[in-house]
Amino acid sequence: RRADALARAGEECRTADGTRIELFANCGSAADAEFAVHNGAEGCGLLRTELLFLDRDTAPDVAEQTADYQAVVDALDGRPLIVRLLDIGGDKPAPYLPIEGEENPALGLRGVRVVLAHPHILEDQLRAILAVRPRGRCRIMVPMIAGVDELLKVRAVLDRLTDGARDVELGVMVETPAAAIGADLLAAEADFLSIGTNDLTQYTLAMDRGNAAVAGALDGLHPAVLRLIGETVRGGALRHRWTGVCGSLASDPLAVPILLGLGVTELSVAPAAVPEIKALVRDLDLTAARDHARAALACPDAAAVRRLAREFAR
Ligand code: PEP
Ligand code: MG
Repeated sequence: RRADALARAGEECRTADGTRIELFANCGSAADAEFAVHNGAEGCGLLRTELLFLDRDTAPDVAEQTADYQAVVDALDGRPLIVRLLDIGGDKPAPYLPIEGEENPALGLRGVRVVLAHPHILEDQLRAILAVRPRGRCRIMVPMIAGVDELLKVRAVLDRLTDGARDVELGVMVETPAAAIGADLLAAEADFLSIGTNDLTQYTLAMDRGNAAVAGALDGLHPAVLRLIGETVRGGALRHRWTGVCGSLASDPLAVPILLGLGVTELSVAPAAVPEIKALVRDLDLTAARDHARAALACPDAAAVRRLAREFAR
């Protein structure tokens, strides 16, 4: 099956009943992107740019960042690249941007909050992305959004740098319950929504993703998380925006039928998982997946959803 999946890796991805699903990969480097393309990825749905910023004493300048992003675009050979703005704070420190001791780092300066507090970092990164050629091949994605005001602040800087051209897409990550519940409001200002299920699960269940004591219970298939994913898709659709998933739930074969059944149309998965998830999508009947997702939403807990999902897979 894996050999067959690899052989068909280059083909575009549709469900058995013909619905187009975009199968992207999460990358941290041009080497990741190359490997992802080899495996049949149709683009990069999440470039973790903080990986380019780690292990150094100073932030990379515009030219250096541009070279890094250009290398990923080149490796993708015409496929789209979604660049996530710097996502540090919480469990992701950066030495040159020290964040004062916080009692609750996960609830403190993280993601978009950090770059809004350091406008030069935001502006440099946007300039670097805009300098990549061909222009428009890179889309921009903002992490850890809790409200429309944060998106509008990023949008204002981007508009200033592009003279209002709006020729580069700007999307948001849905990683907080606030973003999921307010997805319709975000979608009015964003070009797309991509759900970060790792953080969305942490914040919905109030369980620290780095805490081994709760790791066993931290499951994105919890019905409350799935309901928020459904809300996000609904909110996006009201504004004719697509919703994807770039958290690790997208790489979980048991989760994929539920995600697509809820209306997700883009998955960004670990590069190594692309062939398997693509093969799974091709075998999937979307009508059956919708019924399955409805049943999952009615389950009492994540364990019950997993049982149901294992039955569905058979
Ligand atoms: C997520 O939170 O699901 C996500 C994709 O971002 P990260 O894991 O990098 O926080
Ligand atoms: Mg996250």
